[in-house]
Amino acid sequence: MAGKICIICGKEKRSNQLLRHKNLLLDDKFSICRDCANEVADFDKEESVIEMAQLANLPFVKNLYIDVKRNSKNPDFGKYLKKLAPYKKFQTFSDSVFTTDNATETVDITPELERRWGKDYTEEEYAYFESVLQGLMVIKPATTAFEIQRYVANVKLKDAFDTALKEGDPKAIAALRKAYSDDSKDLGFDAVLSGNDDSGKSLTERIQKCELTEPVPDDDRYKDAEGLEKYIKKWFFLSMKKTLGLASEKEVEILNE
Ligand SMILES: [Zn+2]
Repeated sequence: MAGKICIICGKEKRSNQLLRHKNLLLDDKFSICRDCANEVADFDKEESVIEMAQLANLPFVKNLYIDVKRNSKNPDFGKYLKKLAPYKKFQTFSDSVFTTDNATETVDITPELERRWGKDYTEEEYAYFESVLQGLMVIKPATTAFEIQRYVANVKLKDAFDTALKEGDPKAIAALRKAYSDDSKDLGFDAVLSGNDDSGKSLTERIQKCELTEPVPDDDRYKDAEGLEKYIKKWFFLSMKKTLGLASEKEVEILNE
């Protein structure tokens, strides 16, 4: 027998049709096929995606689930696994993260959320921003108001990039891809996200080294969070949007103030 039998549909499948599962109870003869995995994991039903992850002994990570659900036209388990692949810390089902801490799929719009992200987003958009932010916090916790603002700018950059991808504007895609990747690199997320860190050091080790060797920020410099938020919004995010022709009239007005 050349292939393996899928334990869901019972059909014989070639190796390229099979999931790279980590269920050690399945022996050489049996596996799970990609088609079945995509069919069983319904991205409108979180529980079904968790069950598929459990069967395949692969991690369920809520932030990534929401990311796929929101950003893919036809979300399926294969796309979810692609999102998962770069994260070395997520290997088996026991590494699963079932919550997004403060973030849920919808949130109540509070003044705090509006201060952080700006006004005029939908509940779903705020919830998505928060979930991506929480994802960054899991990788590298932000400790100062300034760092949080940098993360917020990074999340918005990601969102602008995702929007450009959806709309298929090649000029915006190229510019935003570079801006997002440079910004992520600046924040130290590149090693985690690329999964290809040839420095031989884990991100944690690099952060620890940085904390030991870099000067500790003087807290007073970061107390004016509101001022920094305005500064970053105006000179980083808005000016980039304007350059890319993505800024609204109102936003261009702010820039010209
Ligand atoms: Zn199957």
